[in-house]
Amino acid sequence: MTPPDSVGPNTRAVHSEGDGEYKHRAVSCPIYQTSAFSFDSAEVGASLFRGETQGFIYTRLGNPTTEALQNTIAALEHGSSALATASGMAATSTLLVGLLKSGDHVVCSHAVYGPTRVLLERELVRFGIRSTFVETSDTDAVRAALEPGTRLLFIETPANPTLTVTDLAACAELARARGALMAVDNTFASPYLQTPLDLGADVVVHSLTKFINGHSDVVAGMIVLRDRDLHKRLRSALTTLGGTVDPHQAWLVLRGTKTLGLRMAQAQASAQKVAERLRGHKAVAWVSYPGLPDHPHHERARRQMRGFGAMVCFGPHGGYPAVQRILNRVRLCTLGVSLGGVETLIQHPATMTHASLSDEARAAAGIGPDLIRLALGIEDAEDLIADLDQALAEG
Ligand SMILES: *Cc1c(COP(=O)(O)O)cnc(C)c1O
Repeated sequence: MTPPDSVGPNTRAVHSEGDGEYKHRAVSCPIYQTSAFSFDSAEVGASLFRGETQGFIYTRLGNPTTEALQNTIAALEHGSSALATASGMAATSTLLVGLLKSGDHVVCSHAVYGPTRVLLERELVRFGIRSTFVETSDTDAVRAALEPGTRLLFIETPANPTLTVTDLAACAELARARGALMAVDNTFASPYLQTPLDLGADVVVHSLTKFINGHSDVVAGMIVLRDRDLHKRLRSALTTLGGTVDPHQAWLVLRGTKTLGLRMAQAQASAQKVAERLRGHKAVAWVSYPGLPDHPHHERARRQMRGFGAMVCFGPHGGYPAVQRILNRVRLCTLGVSLGGVETLIQHPATMTHASLSDEARAAAGIGPDLIRLALGIEDAEDLIADLDQALAEG
């Protein structure tokens, strides 16, 4: 059964695998752990290869379990199709390599996932693709950075790790006027809270590793599209470059996706409580969370998102030495990078996820030495607050 467009995100997450008609009437999608599929006859095999018959040939080209996941994420993102990849970076690299050519120009958010920046600055530049990094939450800066040769505007919002919020509808309009495509890395918000295709984006990429899978046990990614031609182009790039997902990984993510809404609701409720508690704490100099009314993009986030997310950043008084003390003192929060799992993670971007950036790039992206990033899990908020309180206590 494919649900009608009117159903809510939790119904979509559960019922969008496809026709759902599995062998023996299995309720859960089976794991098709196979590299190849057999053909009924020589004629059918030839027809499959000509693209005249729909069916599976070889798992790098397509697999029923992977397809169930693609259908589910496409439905959650309000897209028409999706391509599952071996990691979030495989989604981004397939998009960029599949779309761009020598001489093209990219405008990208300053505070973007570190390896995305490395991909543009150190890899694609060797193929004659230029990039400009701007604070995309400043719409005027985006307007100024777009050039006649700009092929792609790549946005991450809320930004990693600064949590600035970019006005997606305004940026989509600017990109369209320039004849550029707009892609959004929607990993931080997840489709439960934000659907960029509804706001004018052409492509969404995900690290499924994070909130969508939600259990810190899989690395995978997804490209979501609304345009059939772009789907064809990127499907060809993906199956040729080879960064496709393994069926077992796809199944694990599909299982995680079913509870995305429940987990996001719990994690973001905790994020709000933790952000409010931290803001009132005398050991804390500043807190950034889009759900706080004094966040510079609070109203914008309210307009384009269905919640404020589960990421919180804060800076303690006392700079890096205070950061080290807190990171070494937490007991319930786990000191580790990544995000979106059931367990709350805490990390220091300047020396961890964003350590590979130049000092200038880090400064321009607003990642100071005192910035601590919290990725809320689904534990009880009171327990997380108690843990942070003891870590922030004097002495
Ligand atoms: C983790 C992450 C990625 C990369 O995903 P992988 O699955 O680790 O390759 C991309 N974008 C954002 C925002 C991320 O958090």
